[in-house]
Amino acid sequence: MSVSLVWFKRDLRVSDNQALLEAVNSQLPVICLFNLESERMHRKDVDSIHIEWELDCLRELRKSLESIGGKLLFNFGSIVEELTKINQQYQIKKIFSNEETGLTWSWNIDKSVAKWCVENNIDFLEFPTNGIVRRLDSRDNWKRERDSRVNQDLVKTPEHIVSPAGLESDDIPPIHQLGLESRELLQRPEPGEKAALSVLFSFLDQRGRTYRKHMSSPITGQDACSRLSPYLSSGCISIRQIFYHTRRKQKRVKQNPRSAENRGWTSSLSSFQSRLAWHCHFIQRLEFESTMDQIALNPELDEQLQREYDEERFLAWSEGNTGWPFFDACMRYLKATGWINFRMRAMLQSVASYTLWLPWQETGNHLARLFLDYEPGIHWSQVHMQSGVTGINSVRAYSIRKQSEDQDPQGDFIREWVKELSQVPTEFIHEPWLMSLELQKQYGCMIGKDYPEPIIDEKSARKEGVSKSYSAKGNAKVRHRSKIVYDLHGSRRRR
Ligand SMILES: Cc1cc2nc3c(=O)[nH]c(=O)nc-3n(C[C@H](O)[C@H](O)[C@H](O)COP(=O)(O)OP(=O)(O)OC[C@H]3O[C@@H](n4cnc5c(N)ncnc54)[C@H](O)[C@@H]3O)c2cc1C
Repeated sequence: MSVSLVWFKRDLRVSDNQALLEAVNSQLPVICLFNLESERMHRKDVDSIHIEWELDCLRELRKSLESIGGKLLFNFGSIVEELTKINQQYQIKKIFSNEETGLTWSWNIDKSVAKWCVENNIDFLEFPTNGIVRRLDSRDNWKRERDSRVNQDLVKTPEHIVSPAGLESDDIPPIHQLGLESRELLQRPEPGEKAALSVLFSFLDQRGRTYRKHMSSPITGQDACSRLSPYLSSGCISIRQIFYHTRRKQKRVKQNPRSAENRGWTSSLSSFQSRLAWHCHFIQRLEFESTMDQIALNPELDEQLQREYDEERFLAWSEGNTGWPFFDACMRYLKATGWINFRMRAMLQSVASYTLWLPWQETGNHLARLFLDYEPGIHWSQVHMQSGVTGINSVRAYSIRKQSEDQDPQGDFIREWVKELSQVPTEFIHEPWLMSLELQKQYGCMIGKDYPEPIIDEKSARKEGVSKSYSAKGNAKVRHRSKIVYDLHGSRRRR
């Protein structure tokens, strides 16, 4: 029996899924397959939270597929070996898949499947699923192409899938069967496609009204940000679907922007759309350079900076034990929940790279493991930017003191996440080491015993990091490379 096969990767949905629809339209029985590459378990950027999230999303996908007659096979191992097995039992005519932009290891897997298809005389058809454009020479016309893709109509959801007779779905195994330990997250989102749409609608109906004003604080951002990122990175929702529903909302608001119902939405929706545009802008960088987890976009600049690994600093940074209360609160919140807002992510990375002068590869991998929404294209682009190794972005080193006072003036967030400081009054909450010994006793927090002293002097270390970064940017080889980086990766909105 000849079949079409849909290879699900990071597109765990049945709606707006071109590969699935094309397979259904191929007039052959369809097999759906998800393969969890065993190689992933050993990668430095992968954590059990990612795998468990995917498994949960897959269970939802299986339900949706089965409700229209489809079956989902699951394999833990090598995709090529699994395809070989399936091909022995069913004759695969065509493989349908949505394009994925990943690091070198995942690109190599795509290439091995393409090679296997050629050897076995099977068509391998891949479809774009967002605004990332393959085989692009320059960024000059990219924005137009991205806009046209994300503004296209949504792909129809198949109504019925014909599966090969007798085929049954596989069970999706619990995580411990894969040899991994589960790590529980607080406030973990509900998995799957339906949950993704309901999070989107709760944002567009209500939560998003104050997005622009509230996105930068870790307290208000929890509710005011869309919280769509884990769904986007596993593909439970497509970027096109989010644009589509956001445009519809915008139209409704435009009709009567001053009504009580619509007030506040115009600026928030426009900020939200810019963030969505960044999604594809940054992943496009990885599409050009799949080695971004190891090699800086501007390697000459990275070499000039000569950052050094220091175990004590790395441990204090990664555990949220630096002695800087707001920083520690953010790191501990992220560890507990798997999410934090953009501004605080930028601060976590910038403190590692500028203030503590740690190599971005190690710290970037640590953050990748903590983010439930880990998306390599956005992640490594941001790690490079916040570490000043692109040469095309301005040097931006976050002051913890400023962020602490701006985003958590009363210290509520600090007290919630750094329990050692829960009794410390607002006057000292941002710099508890300024308390006298008597006050430390009174508020139940001895600095150096209950809570660490600051690991280094933040202000002078940050200034030194900034100054070294500016000198490195002036180097002739670095400037030459920066021009190349701009041509390939720079936003064309302003030079
Ligand atoms: C060091 C660092 C690492 C990051 N790593 C990731 C990552 O692994 N995965 C990830 O999805 N985002 C990452 N971001 C970007 C951003 O912080 C998150 O997308 C955002 O906080 C997710 O929450 P949200 O969905 O509520 O965002 P919202 O503010 O509601 O934005 C909606 C969507 O727009 C996109 N978006 C928002 N901000 C950015 C941005 N600055 N760059 C690119 N796209 C953006 C995301 O897809 C996001 O889901 C990183 C940022 C930094 C500074």
